[in-house]
Amino acid sequence: MKWYHLLTYGCQMNELDSEKMAGMLEENGWEKAENLEKADLIILNTCCVRAKAEDKVKGKLGQLKKLKIEKPDLLIGIGGCMMQQENVGQKFLQQFPFVDFIFGPHTMDRLNEIVEKSCTGRVLEIEADRFDVPRLPIKRESSFRAWVSIIKGCENFCSYCIVPYVRGREVSRPLEEIIDEVKEHVENGGKEVVLLGQNVNAYGRDSGRVDFARLLERTDRVPGLERLRFMTSHPRDFPLELVQALVEMPRVCEHLHLPIQAGSNRILQKMNRGYTREDYLKLVEFIREKIPGASITTDIIVGFPGETDSDFADTMDVVEKARFASAFTFLYSPREGTPAARYSEQVPHSIKRKRLDYLMSRQNQISLEYNQALIGKMEEVLVEGPSKKDSEFYMGRTRTNRPVIFSGPAEKGALKPVKITSCNAHTLYGDLQEDSAHE
Ligand code: SF4
Repeated sequence: MKWYHLLTYGCQMNELDSEKMAGMLEENGWEKAENLEKADLIILNTCCVRAKAEDKVKGKLGQLKKLKIEKPDLLIGIGGCMMQQENVGQKFLQQFPFVDFIFGPHTMDRLNEIVEKSCTGRVLEIEADRFDVPRLPIKRESSFRAWVSIIKGCENFCSYCIVPYVRGREVSRPLEEIIDEVKEHVENGGKEVVLLGQNVNAYGRDSGRVDFARLLERTDRVPGLERLRFMTSHPRDFPLELVQALVEMPRVCEHLHLPIQAGSNRILQKMNRGYTREDYLKLVEFIREKIPGASITTDIIVGFPGETDSDFADTMDVVEKARFASAFTFLYSPREGTPAARYSEQVPHSIKRKRLDYLMSRQNQISLEYNQALIGKMEEVLVEGPSKKDSEFYMGRTRTNRPVIFSGPAEKGALKPVKITSCNAHTLYGDLQEDSAHE
């Protein structure tokens, strides 16, 4: 038996890539090892969007070096976006002589071949952007939720973002291939599908055939599918007509992730986001009007170069007005090769930190109020399994993607009614109800 262990950093796209790597390896006779010590092959699937993820990879490599000394036949490989950055793969091979192979997102489909080659010598396989995106086997982490990639790459070139340089041009998958994958998932007992892409709303823009709204309509009609989600949406590419269309799609969940990134028009322009705070708030207002109870979540970057107190106040003003159910908040970190990294007026770390702390504390309060409004209500929960913190309880998610801890027992993958009894800013707590009570 040959054992592999995958370590994944970064976003859901990377999670999905890791599921594909696992699928390819298992087709070739490898088995998943639950821990690093048992593995004969360890692959780090890296991310380069934020400096923090990069630091984590370097830290982990220190640990792997020791493992390799104890177990010289262990194979260690690094893949993912970070390796796709200019000369980074080469530098890593030099800096970490115990690493056996390096590959990028555009050579991932040759993983088995690369692993084999690395048994006889170190391998560096990085290729420029590719337009043929082969369908790869997938070993899904969840039996009831499937990440389904619909478009790769991004052409938005937000000035702080490295993704367009490492993930390449937008290439949409053929509609029928996506629908087939969704049908297969449902036939295997799957309940939920999350359509994935760096900018899902750009789906079809490259091929000029079917657009994102049409893809959603088709997916929504797949028999047996219970929940449909998508991420990430670019607010600029989210027309009001799409919101209107979502109302007619019963499986589309009432949760929209719409990264605003900043609330100041001056900063949004410097970020090259292509919308204003007014456009964004109009979209939020329209969603609230058409989809009552919708949860809107966001991403916010604090301390973009040149951000003044007044710009930050504009961000806080949007936070107050949009009332996000939750927000992923980040300190701006310059990524080499992006325009923003070369901007003067980098904001000192202490100011960024102060603003981030303020934002997080206010957002936590708003998230708490959002959750408190659900106390006493009945929510349909998709059961994910026993709670990690206390196995006597179960964990699941509402249609609005709020995590719920509740008294069981409940079968993994089942849809159950749960009455919400209490909450904190991030989690709801409740009691499982009889199914009939839900109807
Ligand atoms: S939309 Fe902007 S932030 Fe998102 S991946 Fe593309 S360039 Fe990066």
